[in-house]
Amino acid sequence: MGNAQEFIKIKNFIDGQWVEETGVEYVPLYNPSTGEQIGDVPLSRPETSAKAVESSYAAYDAWRRMSISSRMNYVFDMRKAMQDRAEELAQAIALDQAKHISEARGEVQRVIEIIETACGIPTLIQGETLEGIAGNINGRIIRQPLGVFGGIAPFNFPALVFGWFIPFAIGVGNTFVFKPSTQSPYFMQKMGEIFNDIDLPRGVVNIIHGNRTVPQVWYDHPKISGVCLVGSTPTAKKIAEGCGRGGKRTMLLGGAKNFLVAMEDVQTDIFIQNFINSCYGSAGQRCLAGSIVAAVPEVYDSLIEKMVAASREVVVGDAMDANVYMGPVISAAAKEKIEKYIEIGIEGGSKLVLDGRNPELPEKNKNGYFVGPTIFTDVTPCRRIAQEEVFGPVVSVMKISGIDDVLSLIRDQKFGNGACIFTQNLFYTEKFISEADVGMIGVNVGVPAPHPYLPFGGIKDSHLGTDKVQGKDGIDFFTQNKIATIRYAPPTGYYSEKDGQKAATGTAKPSNVRSCVAQ
Ligand code: NAD
Repeated sequence: MGNAQEFIKIKNFIDGQWVEETGVEYVPLYNPSTGEQIGDVPLSRPETSAKAVESSYAAYDAWRRMSISSRMNYVFDMRKAMQDRAEELAQAIALDQAKHISEARGEVQRVIEIIETACGIPTLIQGETLEGIAGNINGRIIRQPLGVFGGIAPFNFPALVFGWFIPFAIGVGNTFVFKPSTQSPYFMQKMGEIFNDIDLPRGVVNIIHGNRTVPQVWYDHPKISGVCLVGSTPTAKKIAEGCGRGGKRTMLLGGAKNFLVAMEDVQTDIFIQNFINSCYGSAGQRCLAGSIVAAVPEVYDSLIEKMVAASREVVVGDAMDANVYMGPVISAAAKEKIEKYIEIGIEGGSKLVLDGRNPELPEKNKNGYFVGPTIFTDVTPCRRIAQEEVFGPVVSVMKISGIDDVLSLIRDQKFGNGACIFTQNLFYTEKFISEADVGMIGVNVGVPAPHPYLPFGGIKDSHLGTDKVQGKDGIDFFTQNKIATIRYAPPTGYYSEKDGQKAATGTAKPSNVRSCVAQ
């Protein structure tokens, strides 16, 4: 252990209490910038997972019956507490996930913005009424919570995924059991402290750490109403299978392989700036990271030259160092996997014009998990590096013949998360928005992450289910519709000429309606 960093003992947060899981395996928690162990994380038992579900279930009834304004006050308080502790939260992310501190600050701010959107729940959750379906019959749709939801986070957005799920889920009246990634659990440990500081009722949010055995308990648990995940596509498919058998509602965001398309009228400076951010932000470990650059012949060679030059300027190093642009990848295994993909790229015949293996590093980071910016050119669409999610700072550059060519490449991809086009041409822009087979489009924007008021999510293998996260979709997923058909027959004894109706039973009396003029 280096510096004065205290050993981080990750604990479960069940029923408002910190519970140390005993008699189970603990996996080491590393600082990926240095490779040092900084803590450990329990692989909780299925029984503990079930206990967390019971706690959230017990909390549900009182929570959903609470007035909506009281419930929202907790969401406001959560926002305020996060704002007050924003730097501490960002440092937690920069430590175990090793997202660069400036990006970690951005992630926390984005979550605060999402919570601000969730503060609009009293408006967003309102139902609809259809008056006058027939004489004295109205129809009404109301939106109600379902019960207990389970949520699972990936390693790369420990805060954002909390923000996508929990404020919306609990704001509309559900309770929640959350499983962070074992590779980046520290942020949620801080959030547990915040839940207690704001006196969030016990069980409204439980946090349980571990591997797949934790969510597997939920698939057919009678007290779980739905499960949501952000993670890789193979994981999403396994959860879809388990939850399908158990009849649970799901929202599963999966992996990605995103195109950055440069047309002949690309504004080079804007492209290069966005390319660097898109491909090397979070060391390429973002579901909206640019992974393939597709350029038309007119700009292909000149762009490659500029991309390589700009990539050489990217400073790689410790996630806490303000002078660094790109931190490490999450683990030794991830580094090995990315390096393996670099070998696959070479063996497949693509041209390695920038090799990020073994980047130069400060002494304290020599044992960290670093891969520098890497660029392959002459990549053809069928190569594995052009098809599979590398999830690191490795870029494949392809030559395309034009807009139709790239649209067909995007259509043939199994993933469909995001794609960006760089052009000033209105025809290309509109055609790309209309026909690119992905869920999120950027036009002269390299990371097309929708604002919190709008839904976020892909299509095809990047998203299983219908609802997405954020915006109105967030409300739809965490609520269910109830439709009431109401015949309001006149009560016994009521009579009105205007209504042209008499009470069905009893003695008819004139109604007590008076005219203001007559008085
Ligand atoms: P992962 O799929 O390995 O793990 C994600 C979570 O699922 C972890 O908490 C893990 O413990 C759990 N898990 C793993 N196997 C499971 C199983 N069989 N059953 C139940 N739970 C299981 O993903 P990761 O490596 O942590 O995260 C990176 C992946 O997430 C990438 O594929 C990335 O594209 C994706 N991602 C997608 C989005 C999006 O918006 N689409 C956003 C962020 C990350």
